[in-house]
Amino acid sequence: MIVRILGSAAGGGFPQWNCACTNCRGLREGLINASPRSQESICLSADDGDWFLINASPDIRSQIESFAPLHPLKPRATPIHAIFLTNGDLDHCLGLLSLRENQHLVIYATESLRRGFTEGNVLYRTLQRFAGQITWRTLKLDVEETVQRADGSPSGLAVKAFTVPGKPPVHLEGLVSCDDPELNVGLRFRQDATGRTLVYLSAVGRITSSVVEGLEGADCVMFDGTFWSSDELSAPGFLTKSAEELAHWPVGGPMGSLSMLPKFTAPHRVFIHINNTNPLLREDSSERAIVQAAGWKVAFDGMEIRL
Ligand SMILES: [Zn+2]
Repeated sequence: MIVRILGSAAGGGFPQWNCACTNCRGLREGLINASPRSQESICLSADDGDWFLINASPDIRSQIESFAPLHPLKPRATPIHAIFLTNGDLDHCLGLLSLRENQHLVIYATESLRRGFTEGNVLYRTLQRFAGQITWRTLKLDVEETVQRADGSPSGLAVKAFTVPGKPPVHLEGLVSCDDPELNVGLRFRQDATGRTLVYLSAVGRITSSVVEGLEGADCVMFDGTFWSSDELSAPGFLTKSAEELAHWPVGGPMGSLSMLPKFTAPHRVFIHINNTNPLLREDSSERAIVQAAGWKVAFDGMEIRL
């Protein structure tokens, strides 16, 4: 299995357009040791030829252009067979609207995520230009199923979605139940030929038994690295909410995910969905050293892992 990180930043990217925090300003002015990052999306393939995206970020057009295997080989075609959604955040769905150029698309999502994107959304009509433009395939929680190519044939991959504590996307707050287990999911991909697995969890609001079980036996774990600390946005006055209230369990500290997940010894352990305020972005930060010493890596755009 080939896994390629197209975008590794949280919503807003790095640098973020309206931000001059130490990291964003430092990056623009060349004062820190860090690289720009686009908003989170990855792609994977069982065999180099057929590709599947996880999440469609607002940066999707440049992300596709950044990786030649995603380029079409003939006019009006794409090697992207389907797109998986992990939650309904605009950072994960807005890119779908950019893929509107008279192209058939297959989207795997839970029923709640499908409804959240399609119902009451007049912009969704741009993806209904012709009959069958979008094929939705429903992900059921805790059921492993074959991942199909766009034409319905097996891809050599299987997937299982499982619930992960999260929250509704900002635009659906107050409109949908916060308790819906389909609102935010982790994805476990398994390659038929090798048995190798990727577990993808880019938004983890709390570490629960479902999260822990979902990680077990994985060859590669990509985990929520949005914030290093609980008060990362509240301390500088950017937002009054804590990391936990934003449904992103922080990485650092005695109760952080790094301390709570020590028994996972997957060969590849990667923090992804890094917010621009996170000190992990600075390659020479003490926080980066702590993560590396524990055997974890910090995702960057263009990072590739072969399982
Ligand atoms: Zn910033």
